[in-house]
Amino acid sequence: MIEKLIFELSNPGRIGFSLPEIDVPQKKLSDILPQEKLRENQNLPQISEVDVVRHFTRLSVLNHHVDKRFYPLGSCTMKYNPKLNEEVSRFSGFSDIHPLQPEGTVQGALKLMYELSEYLKEIGGVDAVTLQPSAGAQGELTGLLIASAYHQKKNHRRSKVLIPDSAHGTNPASVVTAGYSPVQVKSDEKGLVDVEELKKLTDQDVAAVMLTNPNTLGLFESQIEKIEKIVHDVDALLYMDGANLNALMGIARPGDMGFDIVHFNLHKTFSTPHGGGGPGSGPLGVKKHLAPFLPVPLVEKKKDQKESYFLNYGLPDSIGKMLTFYGNFGVMVKAYAYIRSCGASGLKNVSESAVLNANYLMASLGDYFDLPYKSFCMHEFVLSGTKQKKRGVKTLDIAKRLLDFGLHPPTIYFPLIVPEALMIEPTESESRESLDEFVSCMIKIAKEAEENPEIVKSAPHNTPVLRLDEVKASRELNVRWSKNVK
Ligand SMILES: *Cc1c(COP(=O)(O)O)cnc(C)c1O
Repeated sequence: MIEKLIFELSNPGRIGFSLPEIDVPQKKLSDILPQEKLRENQNLPQISEVDVVRHFTRLSVLNHHVDKRFYPLGSCTMKYNPKLNEEVSRFSGFSDIHPLQPEGTVQGALKLMYELSEYLKEIGGVDAVTLQPSAGAQGELTGLLIASAYHQKKNHRRSKVLIPDSAHGTNPASVVTAGYSPVQVKSDEKGLVDVEELKKLTDQDVAAVMLTNPNTLGLFESQIEKIEKIVHDVDALLYMDGANLNALMGIARPGDMGFDIVHFNLHKTFSTPHGGGGPGSGPLGVKKHLAPFLPVPLVEKKKDQKESYFLNYGLPDSIGKMLTFYGNFGVMVKAYAYIRSCGASGLKNVSESAVLNANYLMASLGDYFDLPYKSFCMHEFVLSGTKQKKRGVKTLDIAKRLLDFGLHPPTIYFPLIVPEALMIEPTESESRESLDEFVSCMIKIAKEAEENPEIVKSAPHNTPVLRLDEVKASRELNVRWSKNVK
């Protein structure tokens, strides 16, 4: 099971490739190269080609990834993405261009960006879009800086942004970075924003209210129209964290719900794998009254006889630039290819299937784990491991035990308002069989927690490394390899 280092696989004299007999005079390396360029110790591994290939192939599957098996990481939309979109993003016409090329030579790329913005406007129900932010979190910051510019223009003095207690951690972080103070709004017993509480907190000092819809419990904020009125009555702005858009496409639009600002996570909803941490893309959509504040440049279309595209830097109220050049273009190409190949009905189908899959899992697991919010869910739902905790099995143990079955665990201990939370998002791309496999593993673990808790508490048993000391890893940051490390 443990993969050895390639040095440990070395066998003296074994080689990967045989060179033909030498037919030129032979010279010593030390006669050609200066002394300081020579290595003292040429202890390279000696190994045959097939063993090299097998070694690296085995290494490539030690880590979990979505091309291997199920990856139900709640809130992150870790869906399988069509390989076609990867292929398209590597076309040399897209990958070999330079951001400083004259506009006339990159009309195709500008057209793609323009049309992607148009599609996002349609999907989000907004009037203008910037593709610049490099992730959802940067989209949030961009949106809040726009809110700040808006209030400044109107001579408002505002200091607070309201956020529900179920929100993702990037929300309060963006609020602070934008110079505001985050204020938490409680959720009610149904897991939705407590509208009475929101009303009490919303005054002339509130710049914006940030909501995630559906929220991180996988529940649709059904009072959104009421909330919209409360927020707009004090001329505050309503921001939607669009990370959960995978539940809504072609069904409901943030703009129609009354949101003024929404970010899109292209790497979640629109076909870019992001398990390795990037690159991402977090375009931001706004309603008409906020369009003048968008970052520059915007990609626009000339209204002359010939169709042509240009970068517009002429927005007098723009908040400026959020990123070098125009954003992460490769991610935009994948999103564009995805939207074009799905089409309007395909995108709707994505969201419907994502919601159906989540409800199927929730119904299948509800008898074995605590289910704090029992209504129908959207594209994800949250279980609680409190029943198992009574037997000494923590949610962390359940997550580790899933590794033994070759499955990636769901998000755990988030959202913070659910004790021992397991946040599950199957996505639309999973078959009935892979959902059933996950269910049967989860049921098996629930039974083990009853009958043989030790096996869960000591998991994982089958992985290349067993339970990691996470505290040590974060307290003693030492990434240098040393012979003395055991
Ligand atoms: C992922 C996520 C974010 C942050 O987006 P990034 O693209 O990772 O920066 C914000 N809110 C929610 C609900 C998310 O799931």
